[in-house]
Parts: sequence; structure tokens; C-alpha cells
Amino acid sequence: LRDLLHRWETLIPTSHPARAAPGRIYRPEDLRRGIADGELVCHFQPKVGRADGALTGVECLVRWQHPADGLVFPDQFVPLAERSGLIDDLTQAVLEQALHQARAWQDTDLRLDVAVNVSMANLLALDFPNLVADRLAAAGMAPERLVLEVTESQLMRDRVTSLDILTRLRLKRVGLSIDDFGTGHSSLAQLRDVPFSELKIDRGFVHGAAGDPALQAMFDASLGIARQLGLKTVAEGVEDPDDWLYVRGTDCDMIQGYLIGRPMPGPDLPGWRADWARRYQTLP
Ligand code: C2E
Ligand code: MG
Ligand code: MG
Ligand code: MG
Repeated sequence: LRDLLHRWETLIPTSHPARAAPGRIYRPEDLRRGIADGELVCHFQPKVGRADGALTGVECLVRWQHPADGLVFPDQFVPLAERSGLIDDLTQAVLEQALHQARAWQDTDLRLDVAVNVSMANLLALDFPNLVADRLAAAGMAPERLVLEVTESQLMRDRVTSLDILTRLRLKRVGLSIDDFGTGHSSLAQLRDVPFSELKIDRGFVHGAAGDPALQAMFDASLGIARQLGLKTVAEGVEDPDDWLYVRGTDCDMIQGYLIGRPMPGPDLPGWRADWARRYQTLP
């Protein structure tokens, strides 16, 4: 059962008991060993165009294929990695896999943007922009294909250093996305200072917006700000046809969420795409 779990993310609800027990606490040495043994796996969730449903990119979401516990989700080990000095190794392992997969797709004529989540701790390492450039060169990928997603609340700890690192990444033409927009404490200040290229509206303003004028007001305001700053926009958390219909009626650029596709192993993407082309015709 556990061997198959990583294939089942598309089928099993996040709360299903067959997933690794959410209460399980890991020690830094467990995670260090897991990273060294290549147990981190990347799943990829599609981002599609709002206007035509076309696949434009994927977000890479890390999982830990634990030998005893099964598939462990990032909330259970990314904070541990951040606290225990393992986040640089984690991010490098994820970047390498994500870019390798993007290159493999490109070699079959599927040119996708690939988004990788980064932690604040990654934005404290002064050599991070050069490491990213090295990874891109090793994979033979253009920097424009990579998007780094940053959660705004994480930007606060050492502003000067993180702003310097983000600016140097942007100068290398890597895309920068402000993730979960609207949930942190100084969204607008971050937008003023960081040279973002994309804004992802948090799913809290998306799922359920169809029946909630207050959410719609916040969604619209976020789109308006992004538009005026020249940022691409992504609505995350589109879970049902009502969410879909609502976002489709806005001028948001891209849509992401369980309705379109759950995170999946890279090799499953072509099959998902064929299925999506059929389902897209049946959606409102
Ligand atoms: P995020 O970057 O905001 O990623 C979106 C999360 O929402 C993912 O959870 C995804 O599976 C989930 N999601 C996507 N669509 C829907 C939907 O329609 N409804 C609902 N309810 N959820 C949806 P996941 O994979 O558990 O990741 C959680 C968080 O862990 C991510 O949030 C990100 O902040 C962090 N994370 C994931 N991978 C990495 C990584 O490689 N490095 C770092 N530093 N953080 C990561
Ligand atoms: Mg993200
Ligand atoms: Mg997000
Ligand atoms: Mg999030």
C-alpha cells in the first residue's frame, strides 16, 4: 500500500488516514538522512490559463517518501528543515529535481514554467542566486522558465539581505511570485520593495468567493493592484465548479486548484493533460 501512495495523491483526500500520520514528529537527523538518501520527491500541480484552460506551468510541491511512514507532506518537515539548518539542502534537492523534470518535458516539446517554493532561510544565504543559476545551467533551462514562490510573511526577518537576494535573482531573469497573497501582515509593503513578477491570490479569497461578496471585493482588489504593478496573477484553491465559474468571470491570468488537478508525479502530467482537455469541455 505505502509503495503506491505517492501515485494516489490524485485520488485520496488530504485527510485520508492512509496518509502518513499527521502527528508524527521527526528529528533533524531523520530528515538529514532522508535528504541524503534521496527520499524527497517532487509532485507537480498544474497551472492553467484562465481564458483558455491551457496548461502554462506547474508548481513543484515537495513530499518525503518515508520508508516506514509513507508519504509525508511539507507541513511536517519544511519547518523542521528551516529550524535545523537543512533548508538549503532541501531547496537544492527540490530545485534539481524540478528543473530536471522541466527539462525532460521540454525535450518532449512540453514547454512549461516550473515554480519552486523557497523559504525565508534560503533568502539569507548570499550565494543563493548563484546556486540557482548553476542549477539552471546544469539542467539547460532558461531562467525565465523558473519561478520562485515566496510567502510574504516569511519576507520579514532580515529585509535588507532578502531584498538583495531577491533583486539579484530577478536581475538573472528568474521569475518571483508572492505566494498566499493577502494573508501576511505587510502585503502592500512587500509589493513596493520586491521586484515580483507574479502574484498568487491566497485560496482563502478564492474558494467560496462565488457566494461571498466580501471575498470578491478582496479578490478584485488584489487583481487590481497586480494589474497596476504589471504582475501576472494566479488564483489558487479552485476546488469546485462554483470557484471555477467565479474566477473565469474575472481577468485573472492563471488558475490552480484541486478541481483542475492535484499535485502528481511528473510522469503523470501528460495523462492528466489529456484528461483535463476532456473535462475542460464539460465545465461551465
Ligand atoms: P503553497 O506553496 O501555498 O502550496 C499550495 C498548497 O495547497 C499545497 O499543499 C497544495 O497541495 C495545496 N492545494 C492546491 N490546490 C488546492 C485546493 O484547491 N484546495 C486546497 N485545500 N489545497 C490546495 P502542500 O503540498 O501540502 O504544501 C503546503 C505548503 O508547504 C506550500 O504552500 C508551501 O508553502 C510549502 N512547500 C511545499 N513544497 C515546498 C518546498 O519545496 N520548499 C518549501 N520551502 N516549501 C514548500
Ligand atoms: Mg506555493
Ligand atoms: Mg500558495
Ligand atoms: Mg500556502
